[in-house]
Amino acid sequence: KLHNTILELKGNIRVFCRVRPLLADESCSTEGRIFSYPTSMETSGRAIDLAQNGQKHAFTFDKVFTPEASQEEVFVEISQLVQSALDGYKVCIFAYGQTGSGKTYTMMGRPGHPEEKGLIPRSLEQIFQTKQSQQPQGWKYEMQVSMLEIYNEMIRDLISTTTRVENGTPGKQYTIKHDVNGNTQVSDLTVVDVHSAKEVAFLLNQAANSRSVGKTQMNEQSSRSHFVFTLRIYGVNESTDQQVQGVLNLIDLAGSERLSKSGSTGDRLKETQAINKSLSSLSDVIFALAKKEDHVPFRNSKLTYLLQPCLGGDSKTLMFVNISPDPSSVGESLCSLRFASRVN
Ligand code: ADP
Ligand code: MG
Repeated sequence: KLHNTILELKGNIRVFCRVRPLLADESCSTEGRIFSYPTSMETSGRAIDLAQNGQKHAFTFDKVFTPEASQEEVFVEISQLVQSALDGYKVCIFAYGQTGSGKTYTMMGRPGHPEEKGLIPRSLEQIFQTKQSQQPQGWKYEMQVSMLEIYNEMIRDLISTTTRVENGTPGKQYTIKHDVNGNTQVSDLTVVDVHSAKEVAFLLNQAANSRSVGKTQMNEQSSRSHFVFTLRIYGVNESTDQQVQGVLNLIDLAGSERLSKSGSTGDRLKETQAINKSLSSLSDVIFALAKKEDHVPFRNSKLTYLLQPCLGGDSKTLMFVNISPDPSSVGESLCSLRFASRVN
């Protein structure tokens, strides 16, 4: 393909671990440090140890970002992957972790702090810059954005305001269809032509507001739902007639925390089951792809079915596992690291 962005991948699935810093209101406990980052020659920058009750659990990933890592440093490590969407690849980047572990910070950044913007705005800036710089070589690109949320296995459009939901019941069907070319169509979903990173930033901002409206109404829906940002890229070279079609999916997953079975009843229980089911389906799918198994269970959840054409084949997948350094979260952190190392 173009631009010379062949990645050195073992397969097309990679896992990056990121531990966020302690926040101001989280006092560093006397229990001492939970995480350490071994620096042997072989695994330096890729290893993380978790200490719990005097026991050490060791993990390695394709990359480990310590709490000091800046948004810029994280982006540098994914910019090639983003670039490959312009070269015609289908790319998925996920953020996995318990609520409060830094998924939205990694994806979107910190509101009101442009220097801490996350990888979604950074990716878009890079893509639109490259689009400009490719013009002299005859490349013309068209881009389309859609944004949706999957809550309780139901899709909700985050762009259209006419489909605003009431009490969590979507007004439309949002059926997912894949055509023979591997293109996905979600019926009734708004798809917007975009021409600049600024335009997309505006849509993202609207979507964030739309999500937080849900938050107060519906049990903090934003941490209980998956957010899927999709950029479709159509490139044509006017002098050589070459064509490329790439897709960049950036996904802020629902919080992975195990809600106690005892406390969950009714809607909350249904919600919990939906999240558990879709996150374990995602893990099953990625695991099956990594092992090159014949049967990949895409149809077990809306999320994996939606993303089916962008997972597997020659598409590229990156999973961030976000970790909280707070000692009170050590159990959840261990679960997340185990989840991610299965995927790894
Ligand atoms: P999640 O989306 O996983 O629930 P957030 O991204 O909202 O978690 O992060 C929780 C809090 O921690 C937010 O206040 C966020 O700004 C902060 N935070 C997360 N990661 C970092 C980081 N790497 N550096 C500084 N602050 C962070
Ligand atoms: Mg979040």
